[in-house]
Amino acid sequence: MNYCSNCGNSVELKIPDGDNVARFVCPKCGQIHYQNPRMVVGCIPVWQDKILLCKRAIEPKYGKWTIPAGFLENNETVEQGAIRETMEESGADVTIVRLHVLYSLPQVNQVYAIFLAHMKTADFDAGDETLECRFYETHEIPWDKIAFTAVHFSLEKYIENLKTNDTQTYLGKLIRKYE
Ligand SMILES: [Zn+2]
Repeated sequence: MNYCSNCGNSVELKIPDGDNVARFVCPKCGQIHYQNPRMVVGCIPVWQDKILLCKRAIEPKYGKWTIPAGFLENNETVEQGAIRETMEESGADVTIVRLHVLYSLPQVNQVYAIFLAHMKTADFDAGDETLECRFYETHEIPWDKIAFTAVHFSLEKYIENLKTNDTQTYLGKLIRKYE
């Protein structure tokens, strides 16, 4: 960050009084620019004994399979965001069942909230960011072509819940070691 979003002056990186993290601070107007993780919200859309996966039409991970998910917008709840992203990317109209996975990616400053959701009908329609959507039974999931670790984790835990007839919510994280 170079310039203050409030007054346009050059910012300085420093630890504000009473804080313990370096922030971009404006020496002219005093604005402190806090940068915090972004929230990704999405669903595992379930229809009968199948789940709906989306093949990505955009980078990163073009051509890999994922669940419908995207960044939470201002002025919406996590559930609303997950339902909206599911509609935008897959055309599926869903009802949220429960929070399924909360997954932290501290090195890219993201947190995923993935919900289990039931499709109201079997209808779907791939959105602009999706090459195609299709139903998968759990034994058909293309594990080597899944786009993101958070999605892989969510699908694994979905199957684990099915096998044990459980309704558990799971915490996950990806900590990369650079050595
Ligand atoms: Zn300023």
